Amino acid sequence: MTLEDLKTLIREVQDFPKEGINFKDITTAIKDPNAFQYIVDQLYLKYKDKGITKVAGIESRGFIVGAALAYKLGAGFVLIRKQGKLPAETIKKTYSLEYGEDIIEVHKDAFNENDVVLLHDDLLATGGTAKAAIDLVREFPVKDLLVNFIIELSFLKGKESIASEQNIDVDSLI
Ligand code: 5GP
Repeated sequence: MTLEDLKTLIREVQDFPKEGINFKDITTAIKDPNAFQYIVDQLYLKYKDKGITKVAGIESRGFIVGAALAYKLGAGFVLIRKQGKLPAETIKKTYSLEYGEDIIEVHKDAFNENDVVLLHDDLLATGGTAKAAIDLVREFPVKDLLVNFIIELSFLKGKESIASEQNIDVDSLI
């Protein structure tokens, strides 16, 4: 498996979830045993020496590779979820969507001052979701925060908007 092979396994779905959007569907990549292993292994190689103590996955596609990566790194896994899904006390962050807004949350006891957190999601588009998740993790006194995606839609300049402003290590595989 190479990066070029992996790219061919990501399906593009036109007009999903609405007209004009060309959705990058990772289900066709992660159902392939070699591609799934390749994604996790490549991310592991990048982060294995960074002292990551927790991987935080963004609901819901961030849970899949995020959890596998946490296992491989010997780190814990934290769920960042849409409002109303987490059972205990949470911290919330509201963020704007194209129309209206959305809320994500994380348990109040998710991180501590010894944590080096790797925030993970499948895809970076405008950066709105990631920015809200970064703000959420920053509410905690963590040691360091790194951010990673499988795919980045670079033409939307999401990376610039989240990294330049906050001086964070942001990286993507594709
Ligand atoms: P953003 O907030 O950066 O505009 O959008 C990123 C969020 O929307 C991520 O949680 C991501 O899972 C989802 N998303 C947006 N567009 C796509 C896409 O084309 N493919 C996938 N797999 N997820 C997308």
